[in-house]
Parts: sequence; C-alpha cells; structure tokens
Amino acid sequence: MTRSEPARATTRRIPRIFVAGLLVVIAAIAGVLGYQLLASSSSTATSPTDVLRSEHRGAPGAPDGPLLLGSEHPGAPGEADGAVPDGATVFDDEIPGVANLDPALLGALRQAATDAADEGVEFVVDSGWRSREYQNQLLREAVSEYGSEAEAARWVATAETSAHVSGDAVDIGPFDATAWLSEHGAQYGLCRIYSNEPWHYELRPDAIDHGCPPMYADPTHDPRMQE
Ligand SMILES: [Zn+2]
Repeated sequence: MTRSEPARATTRRIPRIFVAGLLVVIAAIAGVLGYQLLASSSSTATSPTDVLRSEHRGAPGAPDGPLLLGSEHPGAPGEADGAVPDGATVFDDEIPGVANLDPALLGALRQAATDAADEGVEFVVDSGWRSREYQNQLLREAVSEYGSEAEAARWVATAETSAHVSGDAVDIGPFDATAWLSEHGAQYGLCRIYSNEPWHYELRPDAIDHGCPPMYADPTHDPRMQE
C-alpha cells in the first residue's frame, strides 16, 4: 500500500494544479464578463432591459427571471431612439426621449416637477418618447419573455398604438414621484391611465377641472389599443 501512495499523491497533485488553473481561467472570464456587463449597462444606461424592467415594476406575477441583457443586443436602440439614460429628468432637453414628448405634456410635467421639488420629490423619466423601432423591439422582447402576444399586450403596446411613440406618454419614477403624481397629478392634467402601470402618465387636460377619468385595468382594455 505504501508504494501506491506517491502515485496517489501525484495524481492528487495534478488535479489540484489543474483545478487551480481552471479557477484562474474562470475568474478571468467572469472578470471580463462582469466588466462587459458593467460597461454595457453604463454605456447604454437604458437598454431595453431597463425599460422592460420598468414596465414590469410592481407587476403582479411579473417574471423576475433573467431579463435580456443589452450586451446580447449589439444593435440595441440608443438615445436617438428614445432610450433614456439613468436619472434623466423632465428638464433634460438634450435627451430625445424627453425632448420629443408632446409640448403640452412636457409643460405639465415640468410644472408638476417644479412643485414636487419644493416638497423634496424628484421626478425621474424612465421612458418617454420612443421611436417605432424601439417600441417594436420592446414588444418583441416582451413576447419572448411572456411567451405570448396576448400576455405581452398587457404591458407593451405596438408601435401603431403606443402613446410613447406619439410622444403622449411618460413613465415616471421613483415610487415617491408616482405617489406624488397620483395625489396631485390631476391638478396639472397628468393622469394615470392603467391600473397595472402606476408609472405611466398621459395628459388629460379635462382632469384639471373634472379629475382624471377612470383607469383601465391594463392596456388591453384601452380602446386605443384595438388595432
Ligand atoms: Zn408607459
């Protein structure tokens, strides 16, 4: 038995070296991937992922599985398509997703944001105007994530029907901003449209005098969404 020990020691040592080397390789790969993820998430701060994630926020039963990563989509829409960088405000004129909003909606948002700021509440634009291409990509991603067009339609509209594409809708965050808007938005004509999207606001000028109209449960109940 003693004769086999050196051999065993040798065979044990080799795998140890091999494993150590493998770990180094894995660590290096992980480091590179991690860097790429960081780089892609900071350079394309609002990949469709972020928007999708915002569309899902608070969604009952929304899948929290792996979302599509921007790095998997080299042709991911940029700011010119309406992707909005993290922390954008309603005053960021240089960002197309903000600047291309309907002027009346933008004016109401700026008034509301100014008054909210007096109470220490800051509005962040998670999404505003979107190009048709961007909207269609969001829809394709939603279909693949939710598994059916019918389920995806509860969250993401087509380019033909989306109020984001026409510049008539904005997704506002964070929670304290949407809470402020749900209480005070009607005074500015800013109304929540869908029960399942507390972040999605559109302009309803009549709301200033008459309050916001009843909400739809989700976009599939909105007559505008019927093509
Ligand atoms: Zn929206």
